[in-house]
Amino acid sequence: MIGLGIESTAHTFSCAILEKTGKGGKILSDVRKIYRPPDGEGIHPREASRHHAENSPMVLSDCLQKAGVKITDLDIVSYAAGPGLGPCLRIGAVVARSLASYYDIPIYPVNHAIGHIELGKMLTGAKDPLVLLVSGGHTMILAFLSKKWRVFGETLDITLGQLLDQLGRYAGFASPCGEKIEELASKSNNYVSLPYVVKGNDVSFSGLLSATKHVISKNLEDGYFSLQETAFAMIGEATERALSFTRKKELLIVGGVAANKRLSEILMSVCKRQNCKFFVSPKEYAGDCGSQIAWVGLLESPHKSGANLEDTFVRQSWRLDTVEVPY
Ligand code: AMP
Ligand code: MG
Repeated sequence: MIGLGIESTAHTFSCAILEKTGKGGKILSDVRKIYRPPDGEGIHPREASRHHAENSPMVLSDCLQKAGVKITDLDIVSYAAGPGLGPCLRIGAVVARSLASYYDIPIYPVNHAIGHIELGKMLTGAKDPLVLLVSGGHTMILAFLSKKWRVFGETLDITLGQLLDQLGRYAGFASPCGEKIEELASKSNNYVSLPYVVKGNDVSFSGLLSATKHVISKNLEDGYFSLQETAFAMIGEATERALSFTRKKELLIVGGVAANKRLSEILMSVCKRQNCKFFVSPKEYAGDCGSQIAWVGLLESPHKSGANLEDTFVRQSWRLDTVEVPY
């Protein structure tokens, strides 16, 4: 089975082609174009969607060419139907719908968050993990039970990715800022006390966001170092409690923030204490990409037929714990 996946939930427009043989998957191509707002500014949904519309023909043809596949070779087309920014989501949906209707290819609307998880599992070989999904749009601790991904902890306000990006933009950097913050944080060892808020198994970052602004105004490196230590320790505590509660023997981190080495270090020590295996999405596929969408479509296709075109809308809010997983 060969599937095309289209991702356009936020800053990234990406097309990827994957091949599924038995239970295994192979990425044949994954091409991305990322919208970059002006330094110090966040994503402007209309500008990002214009970026996606302008780049979609080139990304699609590049991805077909790199995979050595013709459109008529595709068995299915999947697109990220949500959650995400409406104007951005609609571009991916329109491209998918056009291909599906013109070439008569089955179409699969895919939940973007489930895409992060399933691609992470496929690439790392994790079988039944507790999942930490940390990205621009999500901060959730999840485990699979009775056909659904269940939430064992989440942010009560902004996500970990938003926290990092907002504090990077505050200092004038271009979004996404996680990598820049990691680089600057690695130059300091001076911890300044910041609000640490874990409520039950949930975390809250809004107080940390305000307090860190004062510290980075004095010293950028100390501020980012203290920010990472505090936010990642909060995530570590909530994850450790969820591991102990669910008794899972594997932990998998997925989402763009999974690229952060300090976060992995902290979670590795959690895994050591809880006697569980540690998996992290490869950096190249941790963030948003077409592969995550193509892979979920390929997993679903033996269990359900493609959607009717009138059911191929997008949903800005679409919690992953409402999705029944058929495979
Ligand atoms: P996603 O929404 O999955 O594409 O993830 C994007 C988020 O990942 C953004 O908030 C980035 O700032 C963040 N990110 C990317 N690389 C890193 C890194 N090395 N450390 C921390 N956050 C990162
Ligand atoms: Mg994402």
